[in-house]
Amino acid sequence: MATRIYILRFPKETSSEPIIYQLVKQYDVEFNILKADILPQREGVMILELKGAKDKVNDGLEYLKSFGVKAERLAAAIKRDDEKCFQCGACTGICPVGALYIKRPSMEVVFDPEKCTGCSLCVPICPVRAMEVSPVSETFAEEEEEKIVT
Ligand code: SF4
Ligand code: SF4
Repeated sequence: MATRIYILRFPKETSSEPIIYQLVKQYDVEFNILKADILPQREGVMILELKGAKDKVNDGLEYLKSFGVKAERLAAAIKRDDEKCFQCGACTGICPVGALYIKRPSMEVVFDPEKCTGCSLCVPICPVRAMEVSPVSETFAEEEEEKIVT
């Protein structure tokens, strides 16, 4: 199984098409919409988490491409500024994959970049903005070469 987060940019001609519905139906890919800004006859942007078998996710991305949808993978380009972090723990409750957690018995707040999916949910919740995002864009062309490896 692969779980990846993508920024999808929909051309305005496709803004009213049920593309995501078909993606789920035809490719057996689970999805979770993290953010969406799509209006009829306007270019739309959606941040989508896709989960499924690697080949299905790849096929689903090809399907999106056939509609002119551009996908950029939000890779795990999140880092923590340890100078700013004061170990309050506020971020640990929101991280969906346990990449931020409290280590016991020291009660240290640990950030594990290996687990981080780059969803950015922890960024606004940190009172001192210690979690920093640098989105990594991977175009379809690059994606095709690389494919999904985990
Ligand atoms: S971006 Fe933050 S909330 Fe999202 S997976 Fe990474 S550490 Fe967790
Ligand atoms: S919310 Fe910010 S300051 Fe608090 S533990 Fe997380 S990264 Fe550190």
